[in-house]
Amino acid sequence: MTPGRPVPPPLAKPLPDLDTAANTDASTTAGSAAQTAGPTLAAAYGATAPDSGLVPLTVSRRAPKADDVEIAIEFCGLCHSDVHATRGEWGGDTYPLIPGHEIVGRVSRLGSDVDDFTIGERVGVGCMVDSCRECDSCLDGLEQYCEKALVGTYGAKDARNDGAITQGGYATSIVVDRNYVLRVPETLDPAAVAPLLCAGITTYSPLNHFEVEEGDVVGVVGLGGLGHMAVKIAKAMGAKVKVFTTSENKFAAARELGADDVILSTDPAAMEAANRSIDVIIDTVAASHDLNPYFRTLRLDGALFQLGLPEDAMPPVNPGALIRRRIAYAGSLIGGIAETQEMLDFCAEHGVVSDVEVVGADQLNEAYDRMVAGDVKYRFVLDVSTLGSPAEKADA
Ligand SMILES: [Zn+2]
Ligand SMILES: [Zn+2]
Repeated sequence: MTPGRPVPPPLAKPLPDLDTAANTDASTTAGSAAQTAGPTLAAAYGATAPDSGLVPLTVSRRAPKADDVEIAIEFCGLCHSDVHATRGEWGGDTYPLIPGHEIVGRVSRLGSDVDDFTIGERVGVGCMVDSCRECDSCLDGLEQYCEKALVGTYGAKDARNDGAITQGGYATSIVVDRNYVLRVPETLDPAAVAPLLCAGITTYSPLNHFEVEEGDVVGVVGLGGLGHMAVKIAKAMGAKVKVFTTSENKFAAARELGADDVILSTDPAAMEAANRSIDVIIDTVAASHDLNPYFRTLRLDGALFQLGLPEDAMPPVNPGALIRRRIAYAGSLIGGIAETQEMLDFCAEHGVVSDVEVVGADQLNEAYDRMVAGDVKYRFVLDVSTLGSPAEKADA
């Protein structure tokens, strides 16, 4: 049921006439019995203005082009980025905006040239749906660092699709080029696997880049959506994990996730006791904070990867702390498509998923407020079956 789903607001791109679309696009829609011509409507939730909150919307999804995969979405994780984007906190956002880039579902239609996915297969989409495909980063499988035209899963201009603004996964379906579609192992709970597509890969990639292995010691700063994944993935890689937290209330939770040690970062004695004990630190805190005490916990040739992007300036880094131990201070952004697939397969092998709280569409706004308050263990996931269907709306 979709009681009260309002008339769709203006779409970012006008809904093409179905007959025209079928005529001009005939070559790309032939070849699969499962296809029907023309775009389809998806029920969705999104923002119509920075202060609108999330409201029921309807979005047009293009008919699959030759290389496209249409996905019937089952679950979509709620990321902090979604909150920032829908509330206009990053500026430049266009409305209506349908967020969501931790998407899991099943293939419902295939473009004529797609022979490596099958109808009904469980798949996922993460933070990007296209990139230039020709810069050095793209050619190296590091599409997230595309030098020319990274296309985010929502709120981005999609050059290869008439410059339409992309709309994300709080919706019943999405159409994505097959090169940006991941295979989701059937053995993993589809709701709990959704956050791997952003939070999971964002923490896996730097650990993988640092070649963390059995016996290494990994430090994790912050125990939210990203931090809890960093703990689980580092443990699965065979590392010993030390969690830094500002709150003694989180000690038990950290140990439940598998942390070998928990350090109260506000306690100078505890920080001093951790001196030269860690190989690599994954810092997930998105607020301004002093990194110098953390550098002192690193061993020679250690590294600190900062994943959060604070709004305010960070306190200055003391170069001496880096120089004396040849420490690398690095950043990292999600992961490439191949690496994301590798991460999903790794998580299937080791039984790693996110700890999630599944919510329905009518709980989205409350979930956003709770996310901002840090009141979630550790990721909300939207059950997309609660969105209803645009067909029901049309019948109403
Ligand atoms: Zn995200
Ligand atoms: Zn590129």
